[in-house]
Order: sequence, then structure tokens, then C-alpha cells
Amino acid sequence: ALSIPDKKVDSVCPYCGVGCQLTYNVKDNKILYVEGRDGPANHARLCVKGRYGFDYAHHPQRLTKPLIRRAGVPKRADMAMDPERVMDVFREATWEEALDLVGNRLSSIRDHYGKKALAGFGSAKGSNEEAYLFQKLVRTGFGSNNVDHCTRLCHASSVAALLEGIGSGAVSNPVMDVTKAEVVIIIGANPTVNHPVAATWIKNAVKNGTKLIIADPRRSDMDRLTHRFLQFKADTDVALLNAMMHVIVHEGLVDEQFIASRTIGYEELKHNVEGYSPELMAPVCGIDADTIRYVARLYATSKASMILWGMGVSQHVHGTDNVRCLIALALMTGQIGRPGTGLHPLRGQNNVQGASDAGLIPMMYPDYQRVDNPEAIMKFERLWGTTLDKEPGLTVVEVMHAAKEGKVRGMYIMGENPAMSDPDANHAREAMAALDHLVVQDIFLTETAYLADVVLPASAFPEKTGTFTNTDRLVQLGRQAIDPPGDARQDLWIIQQIAERMGLDWHYTDVSDVFDEMRRSMPTIAGITWERLLDEHAVTYPCTEEGDAGDAVVFTDHFPTATGKARFVPVEVIPAAEKPDAAYPHVLITGRQLEHWHTGSMTRRATVLDALEPDPVALLHPLDLERLGGKAGDLVTLTSRRGEVALYARVDEGTPVGAVFVPFCYYEAAINKLTNPALDPFGKIPEFKYCAVRLSLG
Ligand code: SF4
Repeated sequence: ALSIPDKKVDSVCPYCGVGCQLTYNVKDNKILYVEGRDGPANHARLCVKGRYGFDYAHHPQRLTKPLIRRAGVPKRADMAMDPERVMDVFREATWEEALDLVGNRLSSIRDHYGKKALAGFGSAKGSNEEAYLFQKLVRTGFGSNNVDHCTRLCHASSVAALLEGIGSGAVSNPVMDVTKAEVVIIIGANPTVNHPVAATWIKNAVKNGTKLIIADPRRSDMDRLTHRFLQFKADTDVALLNAMMHVIVHEGLVDEQFIASRTIGYEELKHNVEGYSPELMAPVCGIDADTIRYVARLYATSKASMILWGMGVSQHVHGTDNVRCLIALALMTGQIGRPGTGLHPLRGQNNVQGASDAGLIPMMYPDYQRVDNPEAIMKFERLWGTTLDKEPGLTVVEVMHAAKEGKVRGMYIMGENPAMSDPDANHAREAMAALDHLVVQDIFLTETAYLADVVLPASAFPEKTGTFTNTDRLVQLGRQAIDPPGDARQDLWIIQQIAERMGLDWHYTDVSDVFDEMRRSMPTIAGITWERLLDEHAVTYPCTEEGDAGDAVVFTDHFPTATGKARFVPVEVIPAAEKPDAAYPHVLITGRQLEHWHTGSMTRRATVLDALEPDPVALLHPLDLERLGGKAGDLVTLTSRRGEVALYARVDEGTPVGAVFVPFCYYEAAINKLTNPALDPFGKIPEFKYCAVRLSLG
């Protein structure tokens, strides 16, 4: 019978950072269905994306041949992509022709305009090994550190603050620790939608008595489970958090012993929060002073309190400041370093933690060793056998500015879709259209690939083997279940082919060879052997020696900083880069939906998920829709200083009056055409969670 699989392959979910383990049930090179496995993060649970979002891999629009832009066909940033007329724009080519063209063009740009005229974006969708080889290609073949990926759009500010404050950008405790916490604070995150299986553990914890505090400008369906829901005004995180710290200091709820033995900089912080009384901050953040006091006391005095956050915290020009406050809260109360406590930035993509760990960022080599640190430079020059650039490279948005200015002239983009995901997407599209040479490696002709000179057909998640690191620092093995279609090739092979054509002499015969090299350069995973991954499927880092169990909870007796101590960093309130005014009176908040993932290239081609959420929507408070004179389902046009899109109105009482929430996965209404590219100065993350727009019907 058609429905009986001929093989079962254990792997992990390709979507969010929860990292659920699953089993692909395969027949005749087709995935029939997916089942949840008993992995450490999911214990057989899957959400709708993990369970039903697999048939994108078999979609008829999969790229199966290399494509080269036809001579004379211009790259027009405003050109709408038409999947039916792809062959008017591109012609099919052999791998040899396409790879030779890429190698020649990128080498010639490097030799003619200099090493910094090239840049590469890797992907958090790819494996650790792909991320590692990609950044190695850019650093050793292109010759600069101009390499980045979507962490820049996601938790770059969290990582900047965490590295500065506690010496490590990863989580201190796994999600599952919510079941050991007395109090859980979730701020700027909507786990039911974005980390659904993690949300189920939080719901289980609440049933067992954990007090859940959610702080968010938008109400969500977890509202009904909360002990308190703090619907604070968008953009006022620092006001709220500094006021909580003011209460903790004034009421003597600090953990003096922890502060004295494990931290530095407390006196400055104490002095700074003096000016942030709850009474002063209540009108700023929209939460009454009594509630601020109550929540501050609850967090500080419980036996174990944990904080989890998402991009509502990180995607602001003050994203790093927001996270500095969360760190300070945990440090001043000693709510870190024990089970059920700590700091957990919920990772968005399934491998955004691993890709960052593997060095797919412009200022750090693998394992966060700085590219301007002489010791690290020497170490990687020895390992890679070449001279390395000593300056940090450009970040995602900076690369686009440099491309528009003609400073970056050639790019290699693997698995990312900046035409949809970058802020001020029209600008990003113009920048990519201006490049002398753009090569895009992907499984579909994405909006970004449509602007390419060469498109290389890559492998989908179930078509390759590699490791992926989830939000809990769990390194897990994704296994190949099916073969790629047509002439599509595995990404590791493609990266190596380009490396060879740029003069690099690499000899990796298997993905495990790459992982072994990573272990040699990354102390945190040095103890994880490939054999152990094959055997156990998942190992937590830090795991520095073979045989180490791996530490799920870290910072138990010291922080991985130069002094072993954590650092308080006081911050002041700074406003969003673009506030509403008479011309653009509404606040635009962007984010995701349960059924779709990021720019939608996979989930919108998954039958069930697309059927559940087929059309672009704008979520509005009923009062705002009434004021507009519209009703649910009407077309609403959103306009910012940078662009305009039309979407269908959906009523949402959780979205505050005066704001509009829009998912960024719909190419026909690409909301990032409207968003503001203003950057957080530390993490260089754009302000996706706040810009000014105007609404009109039609
Ligand atoms: Fe996949 Fe995340 Fe859903 Fe788990 S919660 S099945 S990792 S999308």
C-alpha cells in the first residue's frame, strides 16, 4: 500500500529553535508522514509545522538545475517574481559552467577591487558544518570577515549583552527548566506561535503551580494562564525593567552575597536605577506602580525564577539595553546558576545558535573568538594555513549599504532571503540588484534568487546529514532521509566546489570530517565525537572532554569572563528611532505566525500549512478597524516612509490600539518594505518591532 513507509529516518525538525526530534517515514524517496521522537526538547511532541510542514521538499517549484541569468536581462529590484516565467530570466546550465562562472567572477572582483569587495550570507537553516565551511570560505577564500547571517536580525543584541555581561551568548538553562521554576517571566515573546512545543512545557509548569508573568505590548493566548499579564507600551522595556530593579534595591531584596562574590559594577547600577521609581515609570510604560512592585517582589523572592525572552526584546535600537536589564535583574537577585533560574533568549531558527557558534558572524571566529584578538588570529591562521584579515567584517544591513555604495560588488548568499527579511527591503533589493555578481544557493527561486546572476540548486533539510544546535545548546544530528531532486546538490559539496575555484585546497570527504575540524577549534564542543552523536542523537555543550555529560545548567560557580565574575551594565531609556506622528500615526510591529516560518519559502509551499494560512494579514485592534471604517477581511494599505503594502485586515484584541501587527512571510505583501533599518549600536540589529505607519482602506 502507498501509505506504508519503506524506511524510517530519525532527524530533527527544520523549523524553530526548540529542536524537536522527529522521524521521517519514507517510501520511494518521498516523505509520507512525520512522527515525533522522544528527544530531550520535545519528548515526542511536535507542533503543526514539524508535523505537517515537510512536503515543501517535494514541491514542483524545487530548483533542479543551475541557472544563469540570460544576457541582457536586467536586474530590477521592483520586478515581481513570476514562477511561470523563470526561463525568460534565466537559462539552465551545467554545474561545471555555473561553478566556473561563480569562481571566475568572485575571484576577479576580489583581485580587482580588493578582498572587502566581497561578502557572504550563510544561513541558520543550514547545518553547523555548512555554517563552518561557509565562514571559512569567506575568511580564507574571499579574504575578509564580511560574513553574517540572520542572527543579525534575530538575537544579535541579546548575544552582545550576554557576552558583555556574563561571557557567553547562549542560554544559561534549558527551556525544560521552567518546570523547576517557581516564577517564570516571559518578555517580548509569544512561544505559542513561535516556539510551540516549548510553550507546552510552560503550560505544564503553570498547571503544576509555577507563576507565569508575561510582559508584552501584545496580548496572546497564553494570557489566560498568566499570574499577571503586563501589557506595557511598545518601546518602553527599559522603563519597566529599571523600575523593577528600583523596587528590588529599595526593598532590600537583592542577593548581597551573590552580588559580592560573583559580580562587578553593582554600585553604578544601583545608582542608575535610583531615578526609575515605579511611580515615575508607570505613566511611561503603562503599568501601574503597584503591579511593578508586586512582580519585582515575586521575581526576587521566589526560590527559583527564570526569564525567557524573544525578539520583542531584541529587535529595537535599544535591544542590547533591554537585555542588559534582564541580565541585571537575574544577577542582583542571584536568580542564575541553579536549576529553574537563569536567562533564556528563545532562538528562532533551528540552527541560529549553532550557526553563530560556528563563526557565521563578522566579528568572531568559531566559538566567539574575536577576529581582532591576536591569539585567536594566530590559532585560526595555523589551523587554516593562511593569513587572515584582522578587522571585523560588515554586518547584514551594513553589507547592503556597502553594496548600494559600490563598495561591496560581489556576494554569495546561501539559504537566506534578504529581499524579504531585511529591513527597508526595497533598499536591500536595490543593493543586491546593483552588485556586479550575485550567486544564490537555495532550494527555491526565492525573491533574493530572482536578483541573482547565478542560482545554484541546493538540498532541502531532509536531503542531507549534519548537526544542528537548538536553543538549549543541544547539538543534534539531522540525518538524510531522501535524495535531492534532479541535479540539485548538497550544500557542503557546493561550498567546497566554489572554494576550489577560488584557490582553496580542501579535502573533506564526509560531513564528519568538517565536524572533527570544528571540534579542534571550538573548546565548547571538543568532547563531542561524531560516534557519540550517531549513538545518542543529541549532546549538550559545553562538553569539553570526551565522556563529559555536557552541562544543561551553566554558571553554577563562575562566569566564563576574564575575571570569572559577571558585570552589571546600567542603561537609560532611549526612544525608538522613528516615533508615530501626524503623517504616520500607527506603530508597526512585525513577527511570525504559527503556521509560517520566516520568509515563507518552505512553509508556504507545504500543503497543510499554506491551506491554514494562505493570505497576507494585518492584525488590528477592533477599535482601530472601526475607526478606519472597515471590517475583518477588508484590504488595508499600510504605508511607511519607505514603502507600501496591502493586506487583509484581521481583528485581534491582543494588538494594542494604535498598533498593527504583520507577519513577514508574505512575498505579495512583503512587510519589510516598510520597516526601519535603524540599528542597535551594539548588536547591529534593526528595529523590526517599531516603526511609524499610516493605515488606509483599500
Ligand atoms: Fe519544529 Fe519548533 Fe514546532 Fe518543534 S516547536 S515541531 S522544532 S517548529
